Amino acid sequence: MSDRENLTAEVIIIGAGIAGLTAANELESAGKRVTVIDKGRSVGGRLATRRVGPGVADHGAQFFTVREAEFQEKVDNWVRSGLVFEWSKGFSDGSLLAEPAEGNPRYATRGGMNALAKRIAEPLQDVRVNTRIVTATCDEKGWIFQDSEGDIYTSNALIITAPVPQSMAILDAGATALSDKDFEQLARITYAECLCGLFWVEGRATLPSPGAIQRRNANVIWVGDNQQKGISKDATLITLQAGEQFSRQMWTAPDERILNSLQTELQIFITDDTEIKERQLKRWRYSRPLVTYPDRYMHAQAEAPLLLAGDAFGGPRVEGAYLSGLYTGKKMVEMLG
Ligand SMILES: Cc1cc2nc3c(=O)[nH]c(=O)nc-3n(C[C@H](O)[C@H](O)[C@H](O)COP(=O)(O)OP(=O)(O)OC[C@H]3O[C@@H](n4cnc5c(N)ncnc54)[C@H](O)[C@@H]3O)c2cc1C
Repeated sequence: MSDRENLTAEVIIIGAGIAGLTAANELESAGKRVTVIDKGRSVGGRLATRRVGPGVADHGAQFFTVREAEFQEKVDNWVRSGLVFEWSKGFSDGSLLAEPAEGNPRYATRGGMNALAKRIAEPLQDVRVNTRIVTATCDEKGWIFQDSEGDIYTSNALIITAPVPQSMAILDAGATALSDKDFEQLARITYAECLCGLFWVEGRATLPSPGAIQRRNANVIWVGDNQQKGISKDATLITLQAGEQFSRQMWTAPDERILNSLQTELQIFITDDTEIKERQLKRWRYSRPLVTYPDRYMHAQAEAPLLLAGDAFGGPRVEGAYLSGLYTGKKMVEMLG
């Protein structure tokens, strides 16, 4: 509390996923002093890419689509700069006679999806990773935050872009009373869990072109070959993502059991002479919102400026998170005057 006169930022943004980073760019372009804080080792959140052995694999979002002109304009710029490429116009479901579905472009990022977050973060002045905020408290003078190491931060305004249950926990822990109406709306937002396996395979994978299959309502809804995708030149790394029901049922099972189940699904896409060199499991507690808030942000009733944003606000998906960040940044600029 004693640091009040040394405000670290006009605006603190919790979460350096695509929503938080986009909001930060919007605010900095308007001359605001922003600090972005994330608990992860790097920026990106669910735009996540991991190295396994000599290879690289996306293990959060696998690709993204575009529906809105505003996002298309941004994506076209990323494509022109070589950062983003059109991977395909759809994927087959892997059944023998299936042709790849033809639809809107599916975009991916060179080097993996995390490279997109890193690019968006590049111009930002103050991004702090490995920092978990545990409480956010406000009064009419502004916000005070405490991280898990006990360090204190202050700001005039707050944008919080963590998945909603995590945002609510931070606000609750700081006893920042959300109004009953805001609380009820936020409590309705739920997310699907997703179990994700990464397999480093020595030998060849036989996934149909362009290197992935996608299914609805199956135990495994996604099998993607990061080498065919073009992001893992030196090794065959396969990403498998389990469906909602399977993920929920197996959530607390031991890692080995989950990986064995996923590997059974992988078996038909690798030849007999291939060896699994390594396998890793990632549990995404909040992979995608199942119920979303109708607007691109929530302007919550609090004593100091507070906007909640992310893919649950007008989302879902990468596009929804980007647009939420964009509109939240604009709204905060307007609120700060
Ligand atoms: C397995 C999986 C597959 C997906 N597939 C697709 C797809 O194919 N296409 C698509 O468009 N979308 C897909 N998505 C969804 C897409 O990734 C998200 O919609 C988007 O990345 C969300 O961005 P965001 O900024 O809203 O949230 P996030 O990226 O989750 O960012 C929130 C950030 O808040 C941070 N945070 C949380 N709590 C704290 C705290 N206490 N202190 C500090 N920081 C904190 C987190 O570390 C995180 O970095 C997928 C997601 C997953 C997980």
